[in-house]
Amino acid sequence: MKAADDPIWKPGPWRTLLLPAVVFLAMPWVGLWAWRLERRTIREGRPLFSSEWAAAVRVGVRHPEKVRILTVEEVPMPGFAWMHRIAARWGFDRRHIGGLCLRYGILLRRDLAAQPIIMAHELVHTSQYERHGSLTGFLRAYLLQCLRHGYANSSLEREAVEKSTR
Ligand SMILES: [Zn+2]
Repeated sequence: MKAADDPIWKPGPWRTLLLPAVVFLAMPWVGLWAWRLERRTIREGRPLFSSEWAAAVRVGVRHPEKVRILTVEEVPMPGFAWMHRIAARWGFDRRHIGGLCLRYGILLRRDLAAQPIIMAHELVHTSQYERHGSLTGFLRAYLLQCLRHGYANSSLEREAVEKSTR
């Protein structure tokens, strides 16, 4: 989906004022969701294999020893079904999401878990979390970028695509 084709992306108060306000208000709740899922993934996941460790270092992860990988049937998203429908309009269709990075907890969909590019992509996000200093620091920046520019156009997402396909 191209952001420019979507009427919701026309500039206006919705994009410049209301969306940041929505992100600000939702942040404590999204942060708690992400923190709990990171804890669970770290508890149940496996550490990186040596080739994955090398990939993590290559994309800039400072603490590869903290990363845990958990394979799942479907990547979870926060919120209710109606929120997922809105998110799908913005390019976050959960059926198309192969992985999710919650700092040191990486969730990968089982049918895609063996693909090194997807692993490397999520590891770039781990390094971005480290750079932003906290779970909520990264998530706030990421959500704002996705809402303003669209998922595929956000600079954090573009960096992940670029570094994982090099
Ligand atoms: Zn990504």
